[in-house]
Order: sequence, then C-alpha cells, then structure tokens
Amino acid sequence: MAAAAPAFVYLDHAATTPVRPEVAQAMAAAQAEAWANPSSPHAAGRRAKRVLEECREKILALVGGRTAGGDPDRLVFTSGATEANRLAILGLAAGATGVFASSARDHTSVRNLRGELACQGWFMAEPPLAETGRIAPEWVFPTSGRGIWATTFVCGQSGAVEDMPRIAAAVRSRVDVLLHVDATQAVVTQPIVLAELGAATLTLAPHKFSGPRGIGAVVVRGGVAIAPLAAGPQEAGLRGGTEPVVLAVGFARALELAVAERAAEAARLADLGERFAHAFTAAAAARGLPVERLATPALSSPHILTLALPGVDRQACVMAADLAGVCCGTGTACASGSSEPAPALMAMGLSAAHVAGAVRFSFGRTTTAADVDAAISRLEPVLARIGAADGEACR
Ligand code: PLP
Repeated sequence: MAAAAPAFVYLDHAATTPVRPEVAQAMAAAQAEAWANPSSPHAAGRRAKRVLEECREKILALVGGRTAGGDPDRLVFTSGATEANRLAILGLAAGATGVFASSARDHTSVRNLRGELACQGWFMAEPPLAETGRIAPEWVFPTSGRGIWATTFVCGQSGAVEDMPRIAAAVRSRVDVLLHVDATQAVVTQPIVLAELGAATLTLAPHKFSGPRGIGAVVVRGGVAIAPLAAGPQEAGLRGGTEPVVLAVGFARALELAVAERAAEAARLADLGERFAHAFTAAAAARGLPVERLATPALSSPHILTLALPGVDRQACVMAADLAGVCCGTGTACASGSSEPAPALMAMGLSAAHVAGAVRFSFGRTTTAADVDAAISRLEPVLARIGAADGEACR
C-alpha cells in the first residue's frame, strides 16, 4: 500500500526547525542525569552545574570563543534570540549615551529597542540598504564618539548575508564603537568566528538549527561589560531564573552537528533552493504570472528564498498555500499576520507591488528534493487560481 501523502510540506525553516533525533536523544539523556537545579550546592545540583558549564564551553568554542586565559569570552543563556538581542544591546548601552545604529534588515527585537534607547538619551542612526539587502557600503558610523552598531549576519526576511569582514574592519578602526551581531539565521550556512566578526556581543538561538526552542544565548567578548536586565543571581548575575540544563544540552549538540555539517548542508540547501525557484517560476509563468527573486542569490543564505509575485497579496497567498498543504511565510514569524510591509524589503528599494507580493520559502535539514517537488505540485493549483483572470484567490 502506498504511504499516505504528508499533511503538509514544511518550507518555513527560517521560522523554526524540528528538533533532530540526535539532539532529542542528548536531551533525553540529560533529562535523566542532569535534571537538578544547577545552583543547588548538593551532588545532584553539582552534576547539573557541571553539564551546564560543559555546554557553555562547548558552544563558546564552536563559535571561536576563547574559554581560557585572562578575560575569556563569556556566554549567557537566554530564552531565545529576542531576549539575547535585548540583553546584549541594552546591556551594552546601560549607563551611557551615544549613537545606536540599526538597519531595516535587523529583526524587530533589535528595531524595537530604538524607542527605549532614545528615552535613555541615545541618538539613532539608520544605515540604508543596498539593493543586495546588505548595508550600503558607503555608509559610515556617524560619530567620532561612543556608539553601538547592531547588525544582522543573515537577514531573516530576505536571506541577504551581510558583508561581515567589511563591517568588522569598519568597527576595528573605531575603538568607541561596539558591534552587536545577530547571528540567529546564520548558523546553518555561515562560518561564525567571534574574533573575525569583530563582535562585542553575538546572538544565537538553536531552534533555527534543529535544536530546542526556549533557549538562546548572548556571547560576550572578553573584557566587554554588559549590565543585567533581569534581577537574579544566575548566569553570573546577568539573567535570573533556574537555567534550563536540558535545553542547553540540546543547544550544544545541535550546534556541534550544524558546524560539522555546515559546508555540505549549505551546498545541499543551495541545490534545493534553486530547484524550488526554477520550478516555481516556471509554474507561475505557465499561468501568466511573473516571479522575481528578492535578493542576489550569490550574496544570500541558501536556506531563505523570498520570491515576489508582484501585485499579489502575500497574506492571501500564504493562506492559500497552507490550505494546499505547504507551510511557508510572509517573513519573520513574529511579523507574520502583520499587514505592514516588510521593512527589510522596502529598504532594498523594491516596488510596493513587489513587497506586497513577497513570500518567503525556507529550507532546512529535513527538506528533501521530493519535498520541493511535492510543494510545487501542491502550489500549482494555487498559482492557477491567482493567474486566472476572475475569481482568483489572492489579488
Ligand atoms: N533575529 C533574527 C535574525 C531572527 O530571524 C529571529 C527570528 O526569526 C529572531 C532574532 C528572534 O528569534 P527568537 O524567536 O528565538 O526570539
């Protein structure tokens, strides 16, 4: 008997990814062994603490952090990337003023801090984006004084990979400017080496690379001071609440596997993305619909593909795709459902029609060529309805 078709094809890995079996196994073992409160001084607590600290060191080492010597780099566990961005940026900014720069390609968790920082006396700067989705290369940090420059390694909306060597060089020439790098979407396809990035702080979240939800981290370069946001003695006084040791184990294992598989996985995802883009474009063209790719493929992370059907309503498209059994998104999951146009796409100079019709397909470890083909077959009737002159679903 033929296997039943799956209920849906999941092409929204930029929103989150399923936990891979090796990670689930490591977490199950940790649940049995290291369930105690790592702050408890007794034997059970000490065992949990040992496991937690091993995870911290392992994660740090996997992003090129220095774990020994004077002023080692540090890692603070958080609930995810949103909290990590907040702790890093507000923690760097506390008790000072200067210029805070963030661009439209940053996640809302970064952009939303602008109001708070302005109230604390910080001035805002906004680097424009080039049509590649990167920060315009001619932009320079607009002060000779103190500053914080927040930047996103891989944009969750367009997939554009920032020119990190250029930004690192710009920041190195400016002792008063601290760089925060949001690497949340970068782990699957980009090498991450703290010292090369020139980052004072770095955000990570394992649910984007086949690890658990509910945990993230800020990596803090040695010698950089950040102030705590939430009261509590845990995490060296930087974040309160009993640490989730089991999630930390899943985080470390997921990162270890992602780093080991990165080069091969990036190449595999690039093939899948091309396969999808070509088939989708052909299927749309057959129904009289033009499709445009909204980032330069060579400068984008291969796991994120944002395609525009100019003039089509992206929300209606994503809903129609869902009904047809394809999970995709209009952009970052926290903004999904929002009718506001995506800031990252608008800032790339795209027309309103392109931004309105932009749908994000994102691929991950569990995506296969068969998934891509199945998704296209399921999307063909959706495209046919959109392409039909009357009674269409999405215009
Ligand atoms: N930063 C980037 C670049 C993201 O893409 C996301 C989520 O999509 C976040 C931060 C927020 O992640 P989290 O859901 O872990 O808070």
